[in-house]
Amino acid sequence: MTKNSTVALQLKSLTKTFKSNTDVHIAVNNIDLDVQQGELITILGPSGCGKTTTLRLVAGFELPTSGEIILDGEVINNMSANKRPMTMVFQSYALFPHMSVFENVAFGLRIQHVTPLKEKVEAVMSLMDLAGLEDRSPHQLSGGQQQRVALARALVMEPRVLLFDEPLSNLDAKLRVHMRTEIRRLQQRLGITSLYVTHDQAEAMGLSDRIVVMNNGHIEQVGTPAEIYLKPASVFVADFMGRSNFIKSTVLTNLEGKLGLDFFGKSIALQWDERSFVPDEAVYLIIRPEAVKLTSDQKTEARLEGEVKHAEYLGSQVDYVVEVSGDHSISVIDYNPQFNQIHEEGERITLYFPTEAFHILPQS
Ligand code: ADP
Ligand code: MG
Repeated sequence: MTKNSTVALQLKSLTKTFKSNTDVHIAVNNIDLDVQQGELITILGPSGCGKTTTLRLVAGFELPTSGEIILDGEVINNMSANKRPMTMVFQSYALFPHMSVFENVAFGLRIQHVTPLKEKVEAVMSLMDLAGLEDRSPHQLSGGQQQRVALARALVMEPRVLLFDEPLSNLDAKLRVHMRTEIRRLQQRLGITSLYVTHDQAEAMGLSDRIVVMNNGHIEQVGTPAEIYLKPASVFVADFMGRSNFIKSTVLTNLEGKLGLDFFGKSIALQWDERSFVPDEAVYLIIRPEAVKLTSDQKTEARLEGEVKHAEYLGSQVDYVVEVSGDHSISVIDYNPQFNQIHEEGERITLYFPTEAFHILPQS
């Protein structure tokens, strides 16, 4: 983001409840979000957390129960969906099966009487690498091509904001990665403000300027992929974004009054300045599997002996589960393992925990 960035889309205390005979369900719970001009933000979270509802509120397919949707400074709560300068790309491409590719892409332009129609369609077809396929039917295209047609159909409208609802979920794993790179490249090239919904962490990490992690209708954290991964704001985020080890600990005070942390019965220095801690506070020491080291050149006072319970050799990495101190298990990933450094199940090894790699969160 540049310094003089401007806010394109704002959500203010946005809330949506669904009422049935028996209960009231808060699908979107008081969320605030600023999307900058040209930014791609993903809304990430488990199934049912309110991602699609948020997107549908922005698109105008649902009316908010309370709160505001603001586009370029104007409240658009009451603007009908077809007046909003936004287009949505869906998971099921929602192409019209009996129309040619050209007519599928041209559809929105025809409805809104936009001209010059042919030139606009051809330009976007060429942009999407679809030139020459104009006369085909959607069923004569591969999954990747169909997805590109769906994208072309959205882009041809030159929307102010592009909305995506899990657009790649129907594609196989390899094509998904390819398409997400393509979407990102295109989005950056066109500088188009985008809101992208997914439940796939890797997709969110690979695509986004910033990620919004949602849980149960509310926002847990908004941040860059690195902030979300390395400085999760909550236990939920740490657990949802990749794998984490959660080690229960307590904030200790030594005789000089300095704060430390309990690490399996031993006191280690607390080198953390992001927030203050109180003595006796119950915390988690959170550490990623790849941050736990297996070699003795690690200078750290936090080390543990354990027994390898599970070892999975995957070529570029070995995944271990190591049982330490009673029945506590630690996940470890050793990247680029050397031939003579692969440990076997049943082996006793030492784990080194670089203390600066601990991320500390309160237990409650
Ligand atoms: P996500 O896209 O994150 O999987 P949704 O936004 O689709 O989640 O749904 C959030 C919650 O709201 C879910 O519990 C879902 O069942 C509920 N919900 C969504 N749409 C409706 C609706 N039209 N009527 C009642 N409940 C709904
Ligand atoms: Mg959804």
